Amino acid sequence: MSTENKKGGISVEAEHIFPIIKKWLYSDKEIFLREIVSNAVDAETKLKRLVSLGEIRDISVADLSVTVALDKELGTVTVTDNGIGMTAEEVEKYICSIALSGALDFIKEYEGEGSDGKNGIIGHFGLGFYSAFMVADKVEVFTKSYKDAPAVYWVCDSNGSYEMSEGEREERGTEIVMHIGDEGKEYLDENVLRGILVKYCSFLPVPVFFEGGCECDHHHHDGDCDCGHDHGEEHECECKKPINDTSPLWQKAANDCTEEEYTEFYRKVFSDWREPLLTVHINADYPLNFKGILFFPRRENEFENTEGQIKLYYNQMFVADNIREVIPEHLLMLRGVLDCPELPLNVSRSYLQNNAYVKKIAAHITKKVADKLVYMKENRREKYESIWQDIKAFAEYSCMCDPKFMDRAGDAMLLPLCGGGFKTLDEYLESAKEKHENTVYYAGDEQIQAQYISMYRKQGIEVALLDRFVDTQYIQLLEQKKGDIKFVRVDADVAGALKAEGENKQASEALTKLFCEESGNEKLKLRLENLMDGSVPAVLTVSEESRRMDDMMRMYATINGGEARPSFTEEILCLNVSNGLAKALADKEEYTDTDRLVARQLYALAALSQRRPDAKALESFLADSYELLNRITEK
Ligand code: ADP
Repeated sequence: MSTENKKGGISVEAEHIFPIIKKWLYSDKEIFLREIVSNAVDAETKLKRLVSLGEIRDISVADLSVTVALDKELGTVTVTDNGIGMTAEEVEKYICSIALSGALDFIKEYEGEGSDGKNGIIGHFGLGFYSAFMVADKVEVFTKSYKDAPAVYWVCDSNGSYEMSEGEREERGTEIVMHIGDEGKEYLDENVLRGILVKYCSFLPVPVFFEGGCECDHHHHDGDCDCGHDHGEEHECECKKPINDTSPLWQKAANDCTEEEYTEFYRKVFSDWREPLLTVHINADYPLNFKGILFFPRRENEFENTEGQIKLYYNQMFVADNIREVIPEHLLMLRGVLDCPELPLNVSRSYLQNNAYVKKIAAHITKKVADKLVYMKENRREKYESIWQDIKAFAEYSCMCDPKFMDRAGDAMLLPLCGGGFKTLDEYLESAKEKHENTVYYAGDEQIQAQYISMYRKQGIEVALLDRFVDTQYIQLLEQKKGDIKFVRVDADVAGALKAEGENKQASEALTKLFCEESGNEKLKLRLENLMDGSVPAVLTVSEESRRMDDMMRMYATINGGEARPSFTEEILCLNVSNGLAKALADKEEYTDTDRLVARQLYALAALSQRRPDAKALESFLADSYELLNRITEK
């Protein structure tokens, strides 16, 4: 069949489309390359399918590839493929009309969404071929179908007027030449183009080559080239290597992947030289049909940015990072890749938010991550403990964000113990059963609360270490969920946990008055306790509830930059009558100046072992200490 020479204007509404295409996607112009390369890859995938179905014979699919070439002098970017190509009818059908009307519908439907339209759309798939006009003022298509039909030449300017005629292309496939206009000048730069290709095309299923002006034509050469090697240095020229890895790791079965492969993939994709802490490989079959690998990144410290990066792919083509509508908020602390060929990407964010399929993907990912933690706890306990401190915040936060995660992974959550080691909640409660049923004792700071911790440990009571803010919220959640379990900080129940047998005497009014005056806290309560450990004369006890409330207020004040509110925490000073000094003071009825100084010191020492002193408290404690030393030497 011969191709008649044709002229035309692209549909009645075309005149509106071109300006819209140029303006509408303005800040996202770079996706033109993704769209054109993606069409080229589609054309090759279709060819492969036809060959595998036996519809086409005598064609080798081994050499299928896409080449992106930059010609700065001509001002063109050319994308060439050896896929199925198009006949004249197909060019007319797909390039001249259908795609355009599809694009028109697409624009009409989503133009209103978001402040400038583009925020409403994810992925921008759908504009396809015509996105070339965001950067080009003329586009030429040279194509020859795999069918026995003449080649076609098609050219279109930025007003939408095209000409179509029989072409001269001899090889099967399509070449799209974009004559870059003023609005796309930045793309006439090999680094920019290579950057875009690396971003979007690094894992496409057919090799993609980039010819960025390098003129060498053999693998090893010693002339000038753009690869950055010294003149004369023999090397494999970059332009002869595909920019992509056609079989990315997520396409393999998890059982076939090694730790080294995961690490290498992670390092390459996230430019992080460290090893990931944990890897979750997801291979969801029908009906979800998506694949991915998630990594728990290693962080140097608590303050390192906790924002992760989850890259979303569509049939190995990169779409976007961290799409919140698809990936549950708490999982955004992870890094990873997800390839969801079923995901409708040319739709609005609000559509995705309410999409049942998307919800199922999110639920499946959450389940897989939770299952991995359980697997690690049960089968790789040592390794799990070694990374727990790094993944704890993520796990606790996930439990707080998603009850299903909590249900699934709750039993795999570990409590770090003061002095080292980890236990799950059940293990902790089981081993504590005889001493303190359903109570978990914990410290908020291993150093400051060292004295309490050692008093508990002397009595064989294990103390958990919950020293991060998220811990406080997490234990609240655990208490609510479990109902009968209490978390009690070491300074909240000293008497309850560490008391020896026998009745306690009530503190006299005079003694209480003495401590109220000397501590400067007129609401201080005083108790005489008979603690098992006689080495410590006095300890402070604060109510768990009011202290938690105080912590929260302080946290909000810090976040809001306001001043910390006065403390509501009720303090009880336990004077330990099994200690000689404390008992001697408790037995007195009248107090000398030195007794007052001792009372002040006892209170200050108890406070010091419970919290960090403020400047005033520290100053007066030091002054009193010097005074005591003076009195001792004067004697
Ligand atoms: P979409 O890819 O979303 O269908 P496009 O506007 O990108 O929309 O392309 C329209 C159609 O043109 C494609 O579906 C395909 O049939 C045809 N086409 C585009 N580029 C090529 C190509 N390089 N080789 C073969 N056919 C192509």
